[in-house]
This record gives sequence, structure tokens and C-alpha cells, in this order.
Amino acid sequence: MNINTRTSLYGVFGNPVSHSLSPAMHNAAFRQVGHDGVYLAFEIREIEAGITAVRALNIRGVSVTIPHKISIMPLLDHLDPMARKIGAVNTVVNQDGVLTGYNSDGLGAVAALKEKTEIAGQSVAVIGAGGAARAIAFGVQAEGGNVTIVNRSADKGERLAKDLNADFRPLSEFSGEDVRILINTTPLGMTPNVDATPVPADKLEPGMVVMDIVYNPLETRLLREAGARGCTTVDGVAMFVYQGAFQSELWTGQKAPVDVMKQMVLDALKK
Ligand code: NAP
Repeated sequence: MNINTRTSLYGVFGNPVSHSLSPAMHNAAFRQVGHDGVYLAFEIREIEAGITAVRALNIRGVSVTIPHKISIMPLLDHLDPMARKIGAVNTVVNQDGVLTGYNSDGLGAVAALKEKTEIAGQSVAVIGAGGAARAIAFGVQAEGGNVTIVNRSADKGERLAKDLNADFRPLSEFSGEDVRILINTTPLGMTPNVDATPVPADKLEPGMVVMDIVYNPLETRLLREAGARGCTTVDGVAMFVYQGAFQSELWTGQKAPVDVMKQMVLDALKK
């Protein structure tokens, strides 16, 4: 790596960020495409201070994660229409001092799903109604999928369903009937609670496509049971890598090396 006066700075803003896989993934992508940039993790407590730093230090691009995805929005100069619709930003591009916010989570989920299935015209159950669910549901809807929001708490689930003009079902009443694609966006099943799962195995019909956006462990209980029931499975690393690939393309203007990024993330997860 040849860091010099022309090297551009990028990073992830969040709190905590100590376990972030983004630096390994993005630096691998920069190296692969020959982009003169370096990507670091910044533990940011006050997002206002973070944005001041972006402008002062000419940080060229930022990934935004918990807890800043919403609070960063009014501090930016422009918002991409999809980020505005979702109501959250996970990517900032600094173009000559003008900061634009994007959201690549929905695009990442869609790209991961499209490796295994068509989306247009399919009935898609999105389990959860938090930030990730919002991004994914809008992304899937933009591809022509018929979304139903399935959530534990009715108020939050109904609110998201209303924003999407979609149906809502309480999680406790989920039957799996008529569902072609099921996406878990809740943290259920994530380390250390690996025995948790959002949907009992008997609700998983053979032929369903089941995606889990939890990637630690890579094979969650949901994906293990879905595989055993004859479903097609999509793991959370696929979405993570594709949302990162869209970020990288916005920053470098070059096609992202998805395979290299994925291998870097899988290697980091094994450590
Ligand atoms: P969030 O805004 O806090 O939303 C969490 C959702 O999960 C809520 O709808 C919540 O339901 C539901 N939930 C939480 N605990 C539950 C439980 N015990 N039983 C039933 N439902 C439960 O979180 P988020 O930002 O959307 O992130 C969710 C997960 O996605 C995290 O694990 C995150 O690491 C992961 N993620 C992965 C990627 C990727 O690229 N693979 C990207 C983004 C996020 P209520 O409304 O009832 O509280």
C-alpha cells in the first residue's frame, strides 16, 4: 500500500464499531480496483462532530451505522430519493464538499436475493419492522415484490406497512401460507442467542426462498431448518457484501470486486 498526499480517506461512522467488517472489506475492494484510498473505523458519539470532520478533513465517503442512520440526515446537503423514502442513510458521498446521503441496504438485499430468485410478482414476508426491514421492504417493493410486514409489535409493524401501502401480520399469527420469499430482519438467531429463530420450522414450506440478514453465525438456526425443509437459502453475508459493493461503486466509480469483498468478509468472520 502506498499512502501519500493524494490518498483519499473513507470510513465507517458508528458506535460501537470495534467489530465492524467494513474496513477489511472496503480496503480489499480499493486494493483490487487500484483505488488510492484508505478506509478506517471511527467510533462517533456525536454525529454533528462527525460531519464537521468529514468537511474539515475532506473524508470522501462514509458508511453510516447504528445509531446514526437517521440523525445524520438533516446534516447532509442532498438525499438520494430512495434514502429519503426509507428514512435512513447508510452511505455518504463527499463530492467537492457537497455531501449526499444514500441507502444501499435495500439494494444489497435485492442483489443477494436475485442470485437465487426472481422478485417481481412474488409474495415476500419481511419479518421485522426496524431500520433494516424498512430498507429491505422498500427495495423489494421497487423490484415488484408484494410485501407483507410481519412483526412482533403491531404499532411499529402497522406503521411500516402503511408507509409501504402493504399488508401487516402479527408475528404470532404468521402461518407461512402463500409466502414465496421470507426475509428475517430481526436479530433473532444472532450470536450468542443462536438457538433463537423468528419462525418455527413447520411454517417453512419446501420451495420457499429464506433469507436471513443475520450473518453471525453464517448459518443461523432459521437457515439450517429452512435448508432441511427443502427451501433455498440466502445468508446475511450476501446482503452485507452487496450493500458494501454499491457503496464502493459510488465512491470509486468502478465496478466493485464482489468476490474479493465476500472472501475478505468470510475470512474475517472465521477469525
Ligand atoms: P432494529 O431497528 O432494532 O429492528 C429490530 C426488529 O427486530 C424490530 O422490528 C423488532 O421488533 C424485532 N425484534 C427484535 N427482537 C425481537 C424478538 N426477540 N422477537 C421478535 N422480534 C424482535 O434493528 P435493525 O437495524 O433493523 O437491524 C436488525 C438486524 O439486522 C441486526 O441484527 C443487524 O445486525 C442486522 N443487519 C444486517 C445487515 C446485513 O447487511 N446483513 C444490514 C443491516 C442490519 P419490535 O418492533 O417488536 O421491537
